Amino acid sequence: MQTIKTDFLVIGSGVAGLSYTLKTARALPGHTFTVICKSEPKESNTRYAQGGIAVSLKTEIDSPEKHIKDTLRAGDGLCDKKIVRMVVKEGPEQLRELIKNGVKFDRNRNGKFDLAMEGGHSASRIFHRADFTGLEIERKMLAKVRKMKNVKIMDHASAIDLITNEQIPGKEQNKKSTCYGAYVLLEKKKDVIALLSRITVLATGGVGQVFEHTTNASTATGDGIAMASRAGARIKHMAFIQFHPTALYEKNKSRNFLISEAVRGMGAILRNPDGNSFMEYYDPARDLATRDIVARAIHSELERSFTEFLYLDCRSISKKEFVKHFPTIVARCTTAGIDPSRQMIPVVPSAHYCCGGVSTDQHGRTSLKNLYACGECAETGLHGANRLASNSLLEALVFANRCSVDSVKRIDKIKNPGFVKKYALEYKPLLNEKELERFMSQSKKTMSRGVGLVTNVEKIVGGLKILNEIKKELEKKYGRVIHQKLLTLRNMLDTDLLILEDSVKRRKNAGVFFNENLDFNKINLIEVNKIKEVDNNLVRV
Ligand SMILES: Cc1cc2nc3c(=O)[nH]c(=O)nc-3n(C[C@H](O)[C@H](O)[C@H](O)COP(=O)(O)OP(=O)(O)OC[C@H]3O[C@@H](n4cnc5c(N)ncnc54)[C@H](O)[C@@H]3O)c2cc1C
Repeated sequence: MQTIKTDFLVIGSGVAGLSYTLKTARALPGHTFTVICKSEPKESNTRYAQGGIAVSLKTEIDSPEKHIKDTLRAGDGLCDKKIVRMVVKEGPEQLRELIKNGVKFDRNRNGKFDLAMEGGHSASRIFHRADFTGLEIERKMLAKVRKMKNVKIMDHASAIDLITNEQIPGKEQNKKSTCYGAYVLLEKKKDVIALLSRITVLATGGVGQVFEHTTNASTATGDGIAMASRAGARIKHMAFIQFHPTALYEKNKSRNFLISEAVRGMGAILRNPDGNSFMEYYDPARDLATRDIVARAIHSELERSFTEFLYLDCRSISKKEFVKHFPTIVARCTTAGIDPSRQMIPVVPSAHYCCGGVSTDQHGRTSLKNLYACGECAETGLHGANRLASNSLLEALVFANRCSVDSVKRIDKIKNPGFVKKYALEYKPLLNEKELERFMSQSKKTMSRGVGLVTNVEKIVGGLKILNEIKKELEKKYGRVIHQKLLTLRNMLDTDLLILEDSVKRRKNAGVFFNENLDFNKINLIEVNKIKEVDNNLVRV
């Protein structure tokens, strides 16, 4: 097995990984950096971010205090207040740095930033580049990182497992307390290597692909969280999976295209199959209520109407404005044969954001020494039980910066270990790929039915049983083998179990987590439906 030594190993090339690498590699030009990514470097959730970045400046209409309040309200009592304050306060500086790095944001006719409004925000504070903000960031940052002489990017290189004391000869006794890099599968070479590093950064993104419907990139299979958990790191809040209320409904797509919240910010309205609006029954903020409320309202409407999708009506928005603000959405709808200025868009809630993850402190340090985490794979305390729209790019930037500052201070005291044990599993081609695909599809269905938008104890326990059985069968058949598909499926299953185990322990519904056995919210939903029943009857009369 080949062993490569690097000072810094960054796992992930989304906004978190790239932003960390750019800052740290500039600060330490004499050190070596290796960035690995599972697919093409640009394939990530970052690339698909549409809405923008929430940054609050002190103006007539907005202030950091308002942004803090909105974040805490969305987080439903489970945010870390100190972290919320810190992230909001450090946002403007990170935005300025992005702009310095060449990222462009839209401006209005007066040359001022064109700030958008999104659900859950009390002021227009979303900095955006039309509806492709993530792509703009990813492109500009990747171009900068590629030019750095001390950075090597390895694509189609998947971290399999973190290297801890257990794999370093002489350090086995002090089990799992320090991270020394990762074992990595080189997909094209069909080989496993050890990347030994002094500092390792997890920036592996989210988990959306463990569900049937998701807006997430194909890389979002929970790898970093699963690896960290296997290595003994503390994982937190995995039950809090945010579903985006409005993804384009299309059959048999592995990724559902997102219809940004900003569309509702401009006046689009959700309608049921009868063409009636319904959000007024669920929340005073109507279509601009927070995501959890809107997504559950849609879920409730879907159950009542026995349909697979509802509609987003954008017909009241001027066509010119719509095309100007949402060119990507218009193009994607056109491909699907929908003209949003004349037809309603079919939408379905889809797994969108993982609020939990690898637990970190305010510097992005995890519970394993020399292992940092930032971006969507990290649980920093910002989101609590529900992420406020457009706070995730902000969090990724602020924490990538904090990880960078901390690791620059510490690197001189950290040594690279000389040797590492050979990885326990061996690469082998798969004889029965169809079987793995079947396992994968079964696990996705189990997750969507078990702990989708609305769950209950029976669903969670049933899900745990099915997923544990798949895991056992997988180990029985492929225990000694490593392969790209196996690696992904193993991580998906471990992520599933982390989500279900956290879900079954929760005694209270909060934010995006909704167990209908916990009476308080169940009663609320029943009451809502009763009111609607009466209302519908009145309309019919
Ligand atoms: C459709 C969509 C729209 C969004 N819109 C917004 C928005 O408007 N505003 C906002 O704030 N947030 C938005 N988000 C959320 C936001 O985009 C993400 O939370 C953020 O981009 C995550 O960045 P990241 O760097 O943590 O992860 P990602 O950008 O997902 O990058 C993850 C990286 O890790 C790599 N990786 C994963 N596993 C492995 C492995 N085993 N080995 C090696 N590499 C691995 C991947 O290849 C990838 O390079 C949106 C998300 C989606 C999906």
